[in-house]
Amino acid sequence: MGLHAVSGGASGIGAAIASRLRSRGDEVLVVDVKDAEVEADLSRREGCDAALERLAELAPDGLDGLVACAGLGPATRPVSLITRVNFFGAQRLVDGARRLVAKKKGAVVVISSNSAPMDCDQSYIDALLALDEERACSIAEEIGDGHNAYAGSKQAITRWMRREAAAYAAEGIRMNAIAPGITRTAMTDSVYADAELGPVIKEFGETVPVGRLGQPDDIASAACFLLSDEASFACGSVFFIDGGHDAMLRPDEF
Ligand code: NAD
Repeated sequence: MGLHAVSGGASGIGAAIASRLRSRGDEVLVVDVKDAEVEADLSRREGCDAALERLAELAPDGLDGLVACAGLGPATRPVSLITRVNFFGAQRLVDGARRLVAKKKGAVVVISSNSAPMDCDQSYIDALLALDEERACSIAEEIGDGHNAYAGSKQAITRWMRREAAAYAAEGIRMNAIAPGITRTAMTDSVYADAELGPVIKEFGETVPVGRLGQPDDIASAACFLLSDEASFACGSVFFIDGGHDAMLRPDEF
């Protein structure tokens, strides 16, 4: 039986991960703005600090697993909120809980997106990787495009994970990312309802090679595998669980 923390575990993919972990007998501390063992707003530095403090109290012997899943979709406004939650909320949570995960030689899973490899504004990515929150947010607002803010936040958190993976491994922590494709959750409902993004995502959803959209449990099964000892040699990798969309769009890149 393990003890795991799952951010964004109150809804969608995070809730499916928490539920799968619990069904196999593990204990889960959900970190979310609502319906959570650790209620915190990860869009703010103070919220991240409060969540980390509470996690240290609830898991004094350490965490077997940490899943950074909390996120906001491309229809979110202001667009800089996407930047704050998807990149800085995830990076601060993982970095801040590193000591707790190291205690148990556990695993970290970052929930990225199959939009991460898409072309994004380079100065935005540079600011994210430099951990310059105010500059990244002001670039996101200047560009004003939710898709750029979203895909860029996912590209940067994935690159950050890969840059840090070896150092984490030296402490006994395996860190990997999952890049889900379109998965039916409250987030996708909000994108489908968006006047501008809705028709685009609907059309894109009709081209998934396996012929269906993802379900939260499709992503949860991959996350549970990566958290388990069965994945003991998986480290620093990005797993596309997207019904074949990435292979269809970028067949020669991997
Ligand atoms: P969701 O909206 O169902 O769940 C997101 C969760 O994050 C919610 O419980 C929400 O309360 C929480 N959250 C949002 N802002 C927060 C904040 N400031 N502090 C703490 N918690 C906060 O969405 P989902 O589709 O399950 O998304 C989960 C993750 O999967 C996200 O990182 C998302 O980018 C990623 N993802 C989703 C899809 C998809 O198609 N659904 C595709 C690729 C990647």
